[in-house]
Amino acid sequence: MEVSGTAKFGTRAIHAGQSPDPSTGAIMTPIYQTSTYVQQSPGKIIGEYDYSRAANPTRAALEANLANLEGAKHGLCFSSGVAATGAVLHLLSSGDKVLLGDDVYGGTNRLFNRVFNQMGIETVMVDMTDPDAINAAMDERTKLIWLETPTNPTLKIADIKQVASIAKQHGVMLAVDNTFATPFLQNPLSLGADIVCHSTTKYIGGHSDSIGGALLTNSDDLHQRLKFIQLSEGAVPGIMECFLLLRSTKTLHVRMERHCENAAKVAEHLNNHPQVEKVIYPGLASHPQHELAKKQMCGFGGMITIYIKGGLDESRAMLEKTKLFACAESLGGVESLIEHPAIMTHASVPADQREQLGISDNLIRLSVGIENVDDLIEDLDRALG
Ligand SMILES: *Cc1c(COP(=O)(O)O)cnc(C)c1O
Repeated sequence: MEVSGTAKFGTRAIHAGQSPDPSTGAIMTPIYQTSTYVQQSPGKIIGEYDYSRAANPTRAALEANLANLEGAKHGLCFSSGVAATGAVLHLLSSGDKVLLGDDVYGGTNRLFNRVFNQMGIETVMVDMTDPDAINAAMDERTKLIWLETPTNPTLKIADIKQVASIAKQHGVMLAVDNTFATPFLQNPLSLGADIVCHSTTKYIGGHSDSIGGALLTNSDDLHQRLKFIQLSEGAVPGIMECFLLLRSTKTLHVRMERHCENAAKVAEHLNNHPQVEKVIYPGLASHPQHELAKKQMCGFGGMITIYIKGGLDESRAMLEKTKLFACAESLGGVESLIEHPAIMTHASVPADQREQLGISDNLIRLSVGIENVDDLIEDLDRALG
């Protein structure tokens, strides 16, 4: 369906990239579970498709849908968020340098610093909330800035517009991992980013039942180069995964509204809890970049980071005691999760880096789901004792 340019997010989430199947009228995009397509005569294809690594109609609908939600001209889907990240890194050559946010997802840190470094791509970790630090790290070999905002797990907010203008001055590409905010809360391309990356595993999927990634861009040139990498490396999602994600994006706006609402209440409650030393949530006035978050995002998200009173033993006890908050890695699903970054998601980040970033033994990360918020608060109170 052609969605009008003025249609609001909720309408685009449900309709963009999808139209009833012309042969049957099926309102949902069919699962085109096929690897290949019959040709009329050698080299003469019937429609647009010849082989599903290159393109598939179900995937094409998802790519168009996600592109629309980010306000992008082009979208490409991958088998995971890190596969999407890797595709961007393959735009670079040996000898190039990347400025990477100092507080990025652990798997992103590992991919840059332990895989692509071996191919001659140098990574320098930079605090993306500090424009002087970004400028200081920049040199003529720098080709890419990669950042997340809010970051994981300390929820720092980078000023995308400001970083984009630094990137432009130096002729450097800016990629923003928008997984935590989702296209509902923030659109980095409209703030000057060249590429947006998502792990669709998280909020976009929203049901903790699939792994996937996506890249969105307005640049025809970047799109063509990334599409070539997608085709050549083959890290494409399965067709069923694409169907599941099309089903997920239809409720993204509704889920995100409830994630934000619940997280705000939980953050407020924990902020006044005697067993909690500190709460980090962009929606709290005490957050160092609360004003920037208000300006850049249209909601504060579902992620909360807390420092509890005590150390490893007290953290472990809390994670063992919650019943609704399940102790698991990942985030962004309808169900609430609790995790300990130093032991779990960020274990692959070297200990000295963790310490510098404040990922201490009493730091706990919450992914607030869309259950009844009173039940969630009761669960946390019980676990905090
Ligand atoms: C999970 C995550 C990734 C990696 O995505 P996968 O789908 O697990 O490969 C990248 N960035 C962020 C911010 C994430 O949370």
